[in-house]
Amino acid sequence: ATPISITTAAGRGAQAGVLIKDAEALERMAGVDTLIVDKTGTLTMGKPKLTDTVALGNLTEMELLSLAAALERGSEHPLAEAIVEGAEAQGSPRQEATDFEAVTGKGVRGRVGGRAVALGNAAMMREMELDTGAADVKADTLRADGKTAMFISVDGALVGIIAVADPIKDSTAQAIKELHAQGLRVIMATGDNERTAQAVAGKLGIDEVRAGVLPEAKKDLIDQLRRDGHKIAMAGDGVNDAPALAAADVGIAMGTGADVAMESAGITLLGGDLMGIVRARKLARATLRNIK
Ligand code: ADP
Ligand code: MG
Repeated sequence: ATPISITTAAGRGAQAGVLIKDAEALERMAGVDTLIVDKTGTLTMGKPKLTDTVALGNLTEMELLSLAAALERGSEHPLAEAIVEGAEAQGSPRQEATDFEAVTGKGVRGRVGGRAVALGNAAMMREMELDTGAADVKADTLRADGKTAMFISVDGALVGIIAVADPIKDSTAQAIKELHAQGLRVIMATGDNERTAQAVAGKLGIDEVRAGVLPEAKKDLIDQLRRDGHKIAMAGDGVNDAPALAAADVGIAMGTGADVAMESAGITLLGGDLMGIVRARKLARATLRNIK
């Protein structure tokens, strides 16, 4: 390719749905050797759908859905939307929650109909000193399918599992292939469970998986890799991803995600298509050849 100027690069980027904040972001993009990607909303559509409701106690599946949806109406997480929509589609009775609390990277809890209800991952259950025990086997089966399994507890007893699946975006596999061809190492960092993360990563040929990672730990991972001399781009969509986007050499926000993610990023991909990273990197390299 012929060398191009920064203005030309920014213009071409914008035409291709890649918004570049400044010359520095573009320059740093040319030197990146590792890409860290968030899973939900970045590799996947971020539009999960309810797939399974498993009753493990004496509540029916419909009752579980009704409790779960009552809590999730208070949450803005993509998983919450899937549960609320799924519950409504199945006609589960509507209930109201009080004392709602979202626990970042773990789940939600509150009171519904006089009962203490919690919904979230294993870490959430651990925090409540609740043993997931026999439910783990069932949860693992769901995760091996790439589904996200969440435990639900009522008054301190585990009563069920709710699973959702988030389809991988059409362009993701091709984008990962091309990023590899450009010599980038691709690491998935997700708050989701190890098995679910591995199932998704396996389908995409992702080099490395860091699962069960809290938002703050995504930033720590980036700091560590940078200390080791790596140049890091981080792609994410969520409010939670903002610190990691800011810590990376280049933060790449999905235009379909949270505003704060875009504010923390040097590059924003309109439409949230990962092929935008491939384009951004090509533009960056062509521009750098011109400057040097
Ligand atoms: P990701 O890094 O994949 O975007 P998050 O850090 O947002 O994931 O969440 C990590 C995990 O915490 C989820 O996979 C889920 O198990 C649990 N979790 C987070 N928010 C919720 C919620 N609103 N309802 C239920 N579970 C949740
Ligand atoms: Mg996310």
